[in-house]
Amino acid sequence: MKLLTELKVYLVSRPAVDWDQIAQFLDDEDVPGIPDSIRAGHDESAAIVEVSARMCYMSYGRGRKDIADFINNLLASKDGSVFEHVNYGFVVTGVSRSLTHELVRHRAGFAYSQRSQRYVDETEGAFVVPPVFTDGFGDTEEAKQVLSKALDSAAKDYVALVESLEKALPEDKFEAPRDRRKAIRQAARSVLPNATETKIFVTANVRAWRHFFEMRGSPFADLEIRKLAIIILRILQKEAPLFFGDFTIDKLPDGTEITKPKYSKV
Ligand SMILES: Cc1cc2nc3c(=O)[nH]c(=O)nc-3n(C[C@H](O)[C@H](O)[C@H](O)COP(=O)(O)OP(=O)(O)OC[C@H]3O[C@@H](n4cnc5c(N)ncnc54)[C@H](O)[C@@H]3O)c2cc1C
Repeated sequence: MKLLTELKVYLVSRPAVDWDQIAQFLDDEDVPGIPDSIRAGHDESAAIVEVSARMCYMSYGRGRKDIADFINNLLASKDGSVFEHVNYGFVVTGVSRSLTHELVRHRAGFAYSQRSQRYVDETEGAFVVPPVFTDGFGDTEEAKQVLSKALDSAAKDYVALVESLEKALPEDKFEAPRDRRKAIRQAARSVLPNATETKIFVTANVRAWRHFFEMRGSPFADLEIRKLAIIILRILQKEAPLFFGDFTIDKLPDGTEITKPKYSKV
């Protein structure tokens, strides 16, 4: 039985700008060209927000000259829709099914692709140990043994169910062997616990990520998803400080981290 205590996060997609097309558009519209029209410089994600926001008033080359000031003004005035043009995608592994169940509740501006328990065999699958066992919350040795026993039993029951259904389900009931395997796995997974490890590809736009950090970085959020939120926030603060720099990260008395934005729900 494989037990995981660390999740992994990979930033796998980020926005890109076609500068030639932007230059062409500005030229066609007879407004100031780059760089006078675009204060974001080479910051592509900021440029996307700037180009889209300036569209509303055709204010290319006018108004706020400093891009940080420009973005902060959008955040402060809750002009959130322009942040929907910029998406970041992450592959996340080593997280539990309970985490992803909470993650996929975030609908607006999010896209997901998750490892299937119907197509993928879980015989060699792993389990995620909840942070309360690993993050210095005191002597959890006894509870850890209870957890370990329960997970071990679930893993064995899963294998037993797969083997038993392998024998029980007649091949001629299914159009293809793949359908039979799927029927077996989708029934056997019913004994897998919330701690079962999963992998998910999640993409969201800046507005949606900001809302996610606010909700899941709060002291009331589950520890595992809170950890994920803060790991992704730190990556995006480096990647796009103009969009995420207003989030502060603090420690609670129990040593866990929380985050809070200056500009709430834009
Ligand atoms: C600490 C915590 C505890 C929770 N406990 C529970 C619980 O016990 N049970 C439970 O079921 N859930 C629980 N949730 C989940 C929560 O109710 C939300 O489903 C989840 O946080 C996603 O938030 P959201 O709907 O704002 O996000 P999104 O779905 O991403 O939506 C973002 C925003 O878009 C707008 N929006 C999206 N869809 C609609 C719509 N259909 N109509 C109108 N406006 C829309 C809303 O303004 C919304 O805030 C909990 C969440 C947290 C953070």
